Amino acid sequence: MLSGPGGVGKGTIAAALVAEDPNLWLSRSWTTRVQRPGEPDTAYVFVDKAEFMAHAAAGGFVEWAEIAGNLYGTPMPDPPEGRDVLLEIDVQGAGQVRERHPEALCIFVEAPSSAEQESRLRGRGDPEHHIAERLALADAERVLAYELNAVHVVNDRLDETVAAITGIIEEARRSRPDNDGIGAPLC
Ligand code: 5GP
Repeated sequence: MLSGPGGVGKGTIAAALVAEDPNLWLSRSWTTRVQRPGEPDTAYVFVDKAEFMAHAAAGGFVEWAEIAGNLYGTPMPDPPEGRDVLLEIDVQGAGQVRERHPEALCIFVEAPSSAEQESRLRGRGDPEHHIAERLALADAERVLAYELNAVHVVNDRLDETVAAITGIIEEARRSRPDNDGIGAPLC
């Protein structure tokens, strides 16, 4: 699982990881958030609240959470045989996944500074109230990440961050017990 405060570059990192590692499979989340200008249709399954809640009630999500007034959820993963699942989710969701999959690796990505995080949020066109909310949330998210025993990575240069995370995933693959038949372990 790849977690971290808004604006640290998780989406870009996740895309780079799956582009480089054919054994990784990126889950596509559902959200009730409005699609941003220029955001691809494939970024999320965009649904309204009623559809989201109906899917949650039917047990269709591994986890779901409300973030800054919008709902986000991970559908039950259905990766091709032998692929590890990569989730790009917030720390509340990561905690829920950990309860079901204690072996799941959690990587918490941070921006080099809050000033940098703020400028990244602004650069992608987030509304001002959303920026303030995401910055205020970052400290609480950091605390939760420590509780989850997440591996912390500072995203300064994208290529270095991707290389560091690739190394962490490889190490986790080497040290995990053989797949027990429950399905591909979550990354
Ligand atoms: P954004 O609206 O900027 O795309 O995402 C807001 C936050 O929601 C990010 O921290 C992102 O990691 C998180 N997120 C995206 N998908 C999911 C999901 O399926 N579950 C949870 N819990 N968080 C998600």
